[in-house]
Amino acid sequence: MSAGTAQSILSYLGSFTNPKIIITTHHKPDADAMGSSLGLYHFLKYLGFQPTVISPTDFAHNLHWMPQAELVINYEEQTEKCKQLVSEADLVFCLDFNDLSRINDMGIDVKASRAKTVLIDHHQYPSNFEDFTYWDDTASSTCELVYRLIQDLNQTHLVDASIATCLYTGIMADTGSFKYSNCSGSTHRTIADLIDKGANHVEINDRFYDNFSEQRVRFIGYAISEKMEVLRAFNTVLIVINKEELERFQLTTGDTEGLVNYGLSIKGIKFAVLIIDRTKMVKMSFRSKGNFGVNLFAKKYFNGGGHFYAAGGNSNDTLEHTVVKFKQELVKYKDELNA
Ligand code: 5GP
Ligand code: MN
Repeated sequence: MSAGTAQSILSYLGSFTNPKIIITTHHKPDADAMGSSLGLYHFLKYLGFQPTVISPTDFAHNLHWMPQAELVINYEEQTEKCKQLVSEADLVFCLDFNDLSRINDMGIDVKASRAKTVLIDHHQYPSNFEDFTYWDDTASSTCELVYRLIQDLNQTHLVDASIATCLYTGIMADTGSFKYSNCSGSTHRTIADLIDKGANHVEINDRFYDNFSEQRVRFIGYAISEKMEVLRAFNTVLIVINKEELERFQLTTGDTEGLVNYGLSIKGIKFAVLIIDRTKMVKMSFRSKGNFGVNLFAKKYFNGGGHFYAAGGNSNDTLEHTVVKFKQELVKYKDELNA
């Protein structure tokens, strides 16, 4: 990745009179995915372009307040319209994912489209599907990379409160509020700029962290108290949530976010796992500490990937079989988890 890449993308857009631009991100987008997509959306608008943001699915209610989030089109709700937009596009920005399988059926449309693609991402082991690559796995977040891209183009004067708010939110979420190892001096310098440019960190924290239903908070308590299994021999914590529980607590998209992290707050625990029986598949979240990395574990056994300390995966098997498989694979890592 270099400053030249940002220029090449802009030059390519400049070769069209009115380029059709799509911005998309991974399914069930989190704060970094939505923040980077909307931050880039505002920036491209200020440059005079007319981009459209498409999300492969819905997204969490504690992100709906983000500036212009109401303009994001849900592929599942407006499939035909999205298919047409992708097929007519000149450029598709792919943010916060590095494999087309992460955008579900829309990946097939992007592959079939004549549009060129731009990857802006920080996940490890990219699959190299794109035409322009703006990738750095040492970056805290895709939002930090979007800010870097704006810097590379010498356009930081265009960053206003809307862009700053979107990018701040994603960086805050992906760094666990600036505490994970992915948070660097450069991350903090970006954050300082974003606050100077109008990101209100108190308001953002309130809207993101303190915006849940009573049921969701009760669910977190229940999950930790009743469902958390501590596998001491492996320094591992496992929480398994079934469909009945998801219904009982009336959980909506985004409500289970953050639950997996609690396991790591127990002294000595190095590996925390959350397995949820979602509608279409069994979804898994992995978090770790120390020398144990989870992205390869996710990739090897559960069609997943992500970062060294935070990754995810999925399984088409039943919840019960997935848990059995997880425990079987875990045994192979006993020494590593006790090192
Ligand atoms: P989470 O557990 O919060 O869903 O995801 C943790 C990290 O792993 C995020 O960076 C996310 O993008 C990535 N991730 C989650 N699920 C998957 C998956 O199924 N495949 C891949 N490649 N990455 C995933
Ligand atoms: Mn991210």
